Amino acid sequence: MATCKSCSDPLTLTLDPEESGDEGQTVPDDLLLPCSCHFHWQCLLDQASTVALSLTCPSCNTYLPSTPPGPSSTNSFLSNNVQSQILTTYTNEGGVQPDLDILPVLTEEAFLLSHPEARPARAMHTLASEGDFQGIMELLADVDADEDIDMSLVQLLGWTDPLNGGKSALHVAVESQQEEVFWLLLWLGSAIKTDFFPEQVLGVAETMGLPRRGTVPAEEDLRYIKDAEGRTAGDYCAQAGGQWARFAEGGLFN
Ligand SMILES: [Zn+2]
Ligand SMILES: [Zn+2]
Repeated sequence: MATCKSCSDPLTLTLDPEESGDEGQTVPDDLLLPCSCHFHWQCLLDQASTVALSLTCPSCNTYLPSTPPGPSSTNSFLSNNVQSQILTTYTNEGGVQPDLDILPVLTEEAFLLSHPEARPARAMHTLASEGDFQGIMELLADVDADEDIDMSLVQLLGWTDPLNGGKSALHVAVESQQEEVFWLLLWLGSAIKTDFFPEQVLGVAETMGLPRRGTVPAEEDLRYIKDAEGRTAGDYCAQAGGQWARFAEGGLFN
């Protein structure tokens, strides 16, 4: 039976008895690379920095990427944007995932291994895209207490993601049309006058005891952060149309 090329153990994972309820239950954890080498998921991720850079198997040095089937010759836009993939077969608790491209995961992990301080900020962007208001509140409440978080609240709110077009959490909230998170971020990180906030938002802020800073200098105001293409969250609102465009037209971003 195949074993992990990194740690030589069988390709299974023993579940945490507290989470699974059973004692020492094992499940498959078998990542099969195009070169036919097997790894545990985490064992390969631990080597993400090397693999994302060399694009070769850490065990047999085979070059891993393949390019997806080419677009039709008439589509010049797509052909200029052909991206490499590393297609794997991953078998875990949930079953078999054939043709799983792990290059995006490796790229993200390589970035986070060299920028560990960005991990909570990336997590916050994910929560923003999902509209997880409560999750963001819990993460922000931990900023001062959690020694794994090296950023200040202001840095965390204003962080822009180099892996996602230089977007801030506010850009992400507009893009994903997460209105509650949108208002929460503006409440915490903008100099917008309190009267501009919808009554419902004011109610939530009051119930939760969410403080606002007395002054937010322009360089820390989330409304003025630009993505890699120079667009603010207000530009995203205008583009999103509907109520979002009305927020932008209503002077929220001036
Ligand atoms: Zn392993
Ligand atoms: Zn290999």
